[in-house]
Amino acid sequence: MKYGLTDQYIESLYRKYKVCIYCQKKMTVRKGSAGPQGKSRTIEHLNHRGNSGRFIAACCGSCNSSRGNKPLRKWFASKYCLERGINEDSVHAIVDEYLKKHEPIKKRSQMSIRQLQMIIRDLKDQTPITSSFDEKLFHQGQAHRNKWWNSHKEHWIDWLKQYNGPGYKNRKNKSIRSANIVYNRLACPPMLLWLIEASGINKSKIKDAVKAALASKKIFTAQSASIRAVVSWEEIERNLYSK
Ligand SMILES: [Zn+2]
Repeated sequence: MKYGLTDQYIESLYRKYKVCIYCQKKMTVRKGSAGPQGKSRTIEHLNHRGNSGRFIAACCGSCNSSRGNKPLRKWFASKYCLERGINEDSVHAIVDEYLKKHEPIKKRSQMSIRQLQMIIRDLKDQTPITSSFDEKLFHQGQAHRNKWWNSHKEHWIDWLKQYNGPGYKNRKNKSIRSANIVYNRLACPPMLLWLIEASGINKSKIKDAVKAALASKKIFTAQSASIRAVVSWEEIERNLYSK
């Protein structure tokens, strides 16, 4: 018996879960107290408040100790998870099930593109961190060609017109209505950064986003993904609603 579970049951869990339910790494068998603990398999009680059989699985030692007793969504926001790409969409199905049952998201209205358009009109043009990021991109040969706009704000306002603005006959993105989809698909790092900065995200986090972008592959899609890994749409939305 271990963790209140029979050895047989534990063995069956290890047969079922050969990779960590969080980071998907193949787990090793730990012999005695030897071997690398981080990679070794451990029993994970997803629901620390109860020992019901339904939410017991296996994860690696390193994820287990990083999560500890934290609620999953809170843990997903930690540096550990962000660095490893561990999130709601990457984890094993049992984790999804657990989240639905024990950490459901309270449904709340999601910002529409129209709302975002209105809010953006009131945001400031001048964003110093984004300006210096623009310069850095320029120096590494990533200037926008055919740049016609005077500010990222102007660029955003025009960009959003393709979704539901008036006067655009061939709106290919007509069916997209929520702002989070625009944010999560946009492949323009300075535009993302401008929205982050203008929404009032704290400076050290903006700088982390810049660092992440400059450290990634010098293509807009990769840099955009790195920025989003640091600042999620949810954080921006919260700030924008309080404007
Ligand atoms: Zn793991």
